[in-house]
Amino acid sequence: MKNIVIIGGGAAGFFAAINTAEKAKINNQKVNVTILEAGPLVLKKVRISGGGRCNVTHNLFEVRAFTEKYPRGSKELLSPLHTFQAKDTVDWFKSRGVELVPEADGRMFPTTNTSETIIECFMNAAENLNVDVRLNHKVDKIEKLESGQFLLYIRNLESIATDSVMIATGSSQFGYNLAKDLGHTITELAPSLFSFKIEDSLISDLPGLSFEKAEVQLLIENQKPFKEKGPMLITHWGLSGPAVLKISAWAAREMLHADYKALLKVNWLGLDKVDTAVLYLKRIKEAGLKSQVQNIYPEELAKRFWLKVLEKSQIALEKRWADVSNKELQSLAEILFSTEFKVLGKNRYKDEFVECGGVDLKEINFKKMESKICPNLFFAGEVLDIDGITGGFNFQNAWTGAWIASQNI
Ligand SMILES: Cc1cc2nc3c(=O)[nH]c(=O)nc-3n(C[C@H](O)[C@H](O)[C@H](O)COP(=O)(O)OP(=O)(O)OC[C@H]3O[C@@H](n4cnc5c(N)ncnc54)[C@H](O)[C@@H]3O)c2cc1C
Repeated sequence: MKNIVIIGGGAAGFFAAINTAEKAKINNQKVNVTILEAGPLVLKKVRISGGGRCNVTHNLFEVRAFTEKYPRGSKELLSPLHTFQAKDTVDWFKSRGVELVPEADGRMFPTTNTSETIIECFMNAAENLNVDVRLNHKVDKIEKLESGQFLLYIRNLESIATDSVMIATGSSQFGYNLAKDLGHTITELAPSLFSFKIEDSLISDLPGLSFEKAEVQLLIENQKPFKEKGPMLITHWGLSGPAVLKISAWAAREMLHADYKALLKVNWLGLDKVDTAVLYLKRIKEAGLKSQVQNIYPEELAKRFWLKVLEKSQIALEKRWADVSNKELQSLAEILFSTEFKVLGKNRYKDEFVECGGVDLKEINFKKMESKICPNLFFAGEVLDIDGITGGFNFQNAWTGAWIASQNI
């Protein structure tokens, strides 16, 4: 009987264990599949992900376009995603009675809108396939024996010998140490998917206001500018929302090196140039010549924000549009098209964050998800130096890597 041990009972670990056991069953092979989970609970991040709804994947079935959502790992994921992509994830869950549906922005959730559905699906599948799930089994160290087997040292418990091992420990430092023990390099670690700490009177007192079509540009000293677009949110401490989170992922390492100090330019309405903003404001002016500027304003903006824009331009709220000069129109347009903020630091987003960095991708054979350094050692999920922007891409990386490992382990 062959023993396969998967370290980590998270997204990648469970998906790998289930598919490994299923493949062995189909091929009539005798295999023991064991998950060793350090904590008292499995699938912790699946449970809390997507605000408890679990954003399982993204409704984007064109593989090359999908890979463009990974600041790190995009090139390496191309071939694995051709083997198991978002559409395969949807089909995998569907064949087990779990329907995934997309939202307008492409994020896919179970129709039940609760991550418990995903957890139940995994737990039932693991049980039916006799996957041995051991909680409170923290692997402290791995040793490769001369026989080719691995010896796993479990904290306060007996060690376990196994033929193949998979490290699916997410962003845990312990997991990185296990990979290092076996000769792997860990690339620079840095938080990804964070929001920006900004103190500015234009956005103070407006937490909760959102801008659906914002465009942001991040300027870090001595770096090329980073650009993103999408919904943006004013928070108690600065700016957040998908556009900001995405740009934080692209600039994760550069922001770390800059101690999270940068300039952020915000185009609130996603207009193509400042002249478009001027024309837009001229139309508003002409339609409301007799009205006070505080009462007639771009329909995409909340009044509370517009009043702050007027304040910043030093235009009296009671002024009639007819009396607004071209210079004043230009000043309003410039604020709408490009407000510059000093980023003072980072805040972690409450719903989703990942670690950038991990096992060096040069050391992995992506056809099998196997180590090039240590045979029969496999990896999947966030332990690798792969991370995606927000929207289900991080889970898809876990499913894809775990699927490929399961077919080869
Ligand atoms: C709050 C939050 C919300 C998120 N929401 C989303 C989302 O909606 N969509 C999305 O795509 N991504 C989301 N993510 C990211 C996503 O959860 C991760 O990318 C994904 O869980 C990674 O899977 P993994 O299996 O690699 O790691 P994990 O799911 O973190 O699992 C790793 C497991 O390994 C165990 N472990 C670690 N070290 C050891 C050891 N030495 N011995 C034994 N066990 C060990 C850990 O206890 C853990 O259970 C979210 C993340 C967070 C934190």
